Amino acid sequence: MQADVVFVGAGLANGLIAYRLRQLRPDLTILLFEAEPAIGGEHTWSFHDGDVPDNAMRWLAPFVAHRWTAQEVRFPGFKRLLSTGYRSITAERFRAVLTEALGDAIVTSAPVAHIASDAVWLRDGRIVQAEAVIDARGGTGGPHLRLAFQKFVGLEIRTAAPHGRSAPLIMDATVDQTDGYRFVYVLPLAPDRLLVEDTYYSDEAALDAEAVRARIRRYAKDKGWEPSAVVREESGVLPLILAGDIDSFLGAWPAGVARVGLAGGLCHPVTGYALPDAVRVAELIVNLPHLEGRAVARAVADFARARWHDQRFLRLLARMLFVAAAPEQRWRVLQRFYALPEPLIERFYAGHPSVGDKIRILSGRSPVPIARALSVLREQPLLGARLDT
Ligand SMILES: Cc1cc2nc3c(=O)[nH]c(=O)nc-3n(C[C@H](O)[C@H](O)[C@H](O)COP(=O)(O)OP(=O)(O)OC[C@H]3O[C@@H](n4cnc5c(N)ncnc54)[C@H](O)[C@@H]3O)c2cc1C
Repeated sequence: MQADVVFVGAGLANGLIAYRLRQLRPDLTILLFEAEPAIGGEHTWSFHDGDVPDNAMRWLAPFVAHRWTAQEVRFPGFKRLLSTGYRSITAERFRAVLTEALGDAIVTSAPVAHIASDAVWLRDGRIVQAEAVIDARGGTGGPHLRLAFQKFVGLEIRTAAPHGRSAPLIMDATVDQTDGYRFVYVLPLAPDRLLVEDTYYSDEAALDAEAVRARIRRYAKDKGWEPSAVVREESGVLPLILAGDIDSFLGAWPAGVARVGLAGGLCHPVTGYALPDAVRVAELIVNLPHLEGRAVARAVADFARARWHDQRFLRLLARMLFVAAAPEQRWRVLQRFYALPEPLIERFYAGHPSVGDKIRILSGRSPVPIARALSVLREQPLLGARLDT
């Protein structure tokens, strides 16, 4: 087999690149190899209106299954309705749009065993030659990044009666604080349908899904949303990057292979959102003059390095949350943050806080002990050390 571009993994990151490439460069032959029998898995990928530039929002539109014009947050001290719009891509829509656009280019139940800059080896023995290979097999880690975790279980429930919510509740932190910072996230998908996710900002990746499901059921019941059925479940353990050595991280990639999505460490260090970077990388790759393996890998590595430097402040905030704040006090950091002006919150979501925003976020009364806050200012000493909670 042979193709101009071979994508390893047909998840969010590679799916978006392949879709956009098919639109702009229909002359290229592409193949996507996906280990699972179907693409998209069980996901609801959401993003804030300001996270994606207008030109990309246009081509992304067919993927968007839900859109809201406001979002709410709740903390012990206050609740607030933000006028920032919010959108969600469902796995079902993702599958449908990609299947229609790419058809036979998607090969499922086809795990890739080995990758090089000009070929991939499938586990069943087939070899596919390519001008460029793009690796997005998900998962972030390795010895060069210091991670904490955002982990959750979400149940999509059908309610016995209309639930009455119109805006997403993106953080309800009025719940008991266990296993780090805990909040419930609620998306109203239809008048009688809700996605209710119980989320933990935790030092440990282990997730007790059964206990979390029970807490979701209790939460829904307390709100008067008696489920008549659980329609679907999704769960995740997402990396939050506290610190790292970007040169060693990039140096560990197979030579000449572009790594994108979570595999490339491309996510927001505090929120864990990976969709905005997936869109940016799609734009970057489809606009390259030559889709040759080494050129693509170099462009993506340059992007990842620039992003890494842009996100220095966001990693500092992640360390404030995970290292400086005691686990049961983490909610105070978020409560203080969500009282700040809305445009600042939007720039934070989008991963582009201004200098003024940074000063504003760090000024005033510290929600964490000042000595601990000072101890996390520099990221290098944290590498290789255990999380000190
Ligand atoms: C349930 C869930 C909800 C999320 N919600 C949001 C959200 O709301 N907003 C947001 O921005 N981010 C969200 N994220 C985080 C992030 O956007 C997703 O994890 C996103 O799917 C990452 O994209 P990716 O392409 O890097 O990896 P994935 O989408 O996980 O794709 C990787 C693909 O590679 C395949 N694969 C793995 N190994 C092989 C192999 N050897 N051969 C072939 N295929 C292979 C996998 O089966 C998978 O399909 C969420 C994550 C999860 C798990």
